[in-house]
Amino acid sequence: MARMQPAIKETPTILLLGKNGQVGWELQRSLAPLGNVIALGRNGKDGLCGDISDLDGLRRTIEQINPAMLVNAAAYTAVDKAQSEPQLAATLNHHAPALMAERMKAHGGCLVHYSTDYVFDGSGDTPWQETSPTGPLNVYGATKLAGEQAIQASGCAHLIFRTSWVYASRGNNFAKTMLRLAKERETLNVINDQIGTPTGAELIADVTAHALRQWQHQPAAAGTYHLAASGETSWYDYARYVFDWAKRGGLPLAIQSVTPVPSEDYPVPAIRPKNSRLDCRKLERTFNLQLPDWKQGVERMLQETNKEAS
Ligand code: NDP
Repeated sequence: MARMQPAIKETPTILLLGKNGQVGWELQRSLAPLGNVIALGRNGKDGLCGDISDLDGLRRTIEQINPAMLVNAAAYTAVDKAQSEPQLAATLNHHAPALMAERMKAHGGCLVHYSTDYVFDGSGDTPWQETSPTGPLNVYGATKLAGEQAIQASGCAHLIFRTSWVYASRGNNFAKTMLRLAKERETLNVINDQIGTPTGAELIADVTAHALRQWQHQPAAAGTYHLAASGETSWYDYARYVFDWAKRGGLPLAIQSVTPVPSEDYPVPAIRPKNSRLDCRKLERTFNLQLPDWKQGVERMLQETNKEAS
């Protein structure tokens, strides 16, 4: 009797855009077990276009690779600069994701995209749900919202993760800046009327891989999700947490007093929402996850940074 040949499943190709960003960098690691990852930065490689402002190049690259999963970690993320560059911000955050969605709809496959708490107007003090009314306060938020809506309207399979206050071990972030300032200065003013949740790029990348794995078996899991660590804080309490951590570890700090101040004391081109709380229960339920407290990830990042510095 002829032996049955086991079905050989083709390794899916995953196109990752924005590989050098905070989230993109971590995705290179977390997506690797899911398939053959082609990771592109802004400069592309091997004739492939990684610049998402070049819509023709982007279209050609997607056609050429024909990925089963397209993960877009590239974006225009300079929130204040977006106020004076609305067209470029719209190209990157709206038109490029719209094109990605159109191509993924045409060929099948899943588009993963990231969005932001800045799609909300920051009113109230309860966490925003996925279905809460949006109302961006600045150009960045408006372009990110337009990108989400284009993906949703395209009818392509998608996972959109709205996240907030992203940090990574690599590069600069709020906690590292506070630590540096606390070594140099005796007094600091920190905003205390914006409330949100610091969320590690590592966590976002791990959850993305987990969700994609589940989507492969359960396509109905596609949709829009809030993804942030659990708990909440203000920038002021976040800074205090960092200083307390440093003091516990015996790091020499010059800081003597930290003063909580309202956002109005720091005028910037783009208005920020005051309430950035995201209700992540839909994500936890759908993907059977428990999101960790924000302090866990921040503490690990600080420990790594401190180890590298010593
Ligand atoms: P980063 O700013 O760290 O990374 C963005 C990446 O986009 C960078 O690698 C940048 O490239 C790349 N990029 C910029 N312009 C282009 C272009 N024309 N073509 C290709 N790539 C380009 O952002 P994060 O990793 O923090 O953000 C990931 C996602 O999460 C984004 O969608 C963002 O909107 C969202 N988000 C981020 C938050 C945050 O606090 N950072 C909060 C909420 C949501 P290069 O390295 O060359 O500059």
